[in-house]
Amino acid sequence: MLGDEALSNLGICCPNIEHLEFDDCAFWFETLELSKFPKLKKASFNGGPQHSRLRNVNNTGTNQLESFHLCIFNTEWVINPDNTCSSNIKNLELYCSVNVPSLFEDLTTTFPLIEKASINGLDRMKASNYHLKSLDLSIVNSLKKIYVDCPNLNDFSYSGLVLEELYIDCPKLIYFRYSGCKKIPTFIYLNVPTTIQRIHFNFNVWSGINSSWFISLNKFVEMIGVHQHVYLHLDVCRLELAEFILDEFEATQIFQNNVHLDLRIIYSCNIQNPVALVDGLIWSIHPSTLSIEGGCYEFIKDLCGKLGIKKSEDESCCEQQESCSKYWWHNIKDFEVKHQDKDMKEKLISLPELYQDYPDYIPRNKSCFKFQWRSCINLIQNSLILH
Ligand SMILES: [Zn+2]
Repeated sequence: MLGDEALSNLGICCPNIEHLEFDDCAFWFETLELSKFPKLKKASFNGGPQHSRLRNVNNTGTNQLESFHLCIFNTEWVINPDNTCSSNIKNLELYCSVNVPSLFEDLTTTFPLIEKASINGLDRMKASNYHLKSLDLSIVNSLKKIYVDCPNLNDFSYSGLVLEELYIDCPKLIYFRYSGCKKIPTFIYLNVPTTIQRIHFNFNVWSGINSSWFISLNKFVEMIGVHQHVYLHLDVCRLELAEFILDEFEATQIFQNNVHLDLRIIYSCNIQNPVALVDGLIWSIHPSTLSIEGGCYEFIKDLCGKLGIKKSEDESCCEQQESCSKYWWHNIKDFEVKHQDKDMKEKLISLPELYQDYPDYIPRNKSCFKFQWRSCINLIQNSLILH
């Protein structure tokens, strides 16, 4: 238990304190004034028991701070709206609210020296910082736009719910991770190096997806599919209704995307319309590879059934065109399929049986498909923007 007086005395007795760290401490008071420590360079507050009264950490009057961490639920970081107390900060980690809502609107002016930022709960975000190397935006559930134009950024990660626009111009990026919910961004611009190993997107797909959701997914894939190494991971959970109407979707030219689709079906029993899910996903993404795990018996049964259909000679739906707008499987020139490294192409019919008795996720019960699309146009990674 820490009292305000004890901390004041500490500040008076030791005015040269540069580093303060509080882990799981209970405070007797609501507001901690960091100005008690005039030479403070590094302050860190992590966790805290439920009976702790601390609600505000006030930075007013500290102008030498280089590192600041405040990760205590229900606390607020109180900072002067002019940037005197943030101008030297290089390392910032916040899991709290902030008294100035516009603080992160432009990271460049408020944190000119920032190198590493891990922030939650912000509404708007723009960063054009030269020094910034790592940006972690976690649980930013009301954030709709992100603009990041940082020449030295190596790591970017985001997790949130409603993001609509993402602009990333970071030619030195090494690590990109995006974790969203059902909402698909409507605009995405990525200028990242071709050497990046993985561009990782993750969405949690819940109930209520229909043709318009698949149309947004298709547009999103067009925007990211020009890059190499795009991994799109979908966790499908409690999907009570999936609806896909091909006429609404208006399937047109099919391109082979570089997208690797990774699908995990959490509870198969809750998926009411696996046929719509198969058609919707394949029409929207036309992935290079597809790996499936979880409770996917119905999904795999439908997928394998369609892949096994031989196109008859008299089918005229796509004779004259480069791609078929009626049946996605007419657009597949060839495919490979493996289950746990075992070639299953000749035993396609028996593949669903491997999932029949397992409604939930089983480790290593995974099938991987590799598709070669008929009208394959090799899209070379560039900074093409598709609206
Ligand atoms: Zn056809």
